[in-house]
Amino acid sequence: MTDKNVKEIDDLIKIISKLPGLGPKSAKRIVLKLINKREELIKPLAKTLAQVYKNIVRCKICGNLKSINSNCICLSKKYDQICVVENIADMWVIESTGIFKGHYHILGGTLPSFENKNNENGLLIDSLINRVKKNSVKEVILATSASIEGETTSHYISDSLKDAKVKITRLAKGVPVGGEIEFLDDGTLFSAFKNRGPVAND
Ligand SMILES: [Zn+2]
Repeated sequence: MTDKNVKEIDDLIKIISKLPGLGPKSAKRIVLKLINKREELIKPLAKTLAQVYKNIVRCKICGNLKSINSNCICLSKKYDQICVVENIADMWVIESTGIFKGHYHILGGTLPSFENKNNENGLLIDSLINRVKKNSVKEVILATSASIEGETTSHYISDSLKDAKVKITRLAKGVPVGGEIEFLDDGTLFSAFKNRGPVAND
């Protein structure tokens, strides 16, 4: 990299070092690589980023990413099971284990751990309940993390679904306390999924 600071380069390094897993050092390496491959990397990257920015939105029903020009997968066909996760990274991790091939519902976070449960903060909980009722879903699998917030959220959801005729299960306790789904190894996740049990409603 040059000693003289080029503002555009500095800006780019700053942005890239905000990405997960990257610090300033690797950001610099990436920027250097980009600059050395203007046509092969910068050009298509800029184009793709612009397209993603313009065309990709979060579905307001299921929370998944979708193209602005097409219907979301959650409207596609009937389904029996919904796996409820906190975020998209969690969904990708579960998908990659191959243990669940059904539909997902991405809440967009968790409820705060204390009792202020009216504060859903834009979480897609109402739309989950609508989905369950509308599609006569048979099982809701709660795959929120094993943190206090994750447990609070999972209880709140099962409570909200009391009147719907649906089986509600929660991942088995193999998930370490405080464990975020995203960071579980495949084996743990697999057995937690396989050994999932009914949620006790009290
Ligand atoms: Zn959707």
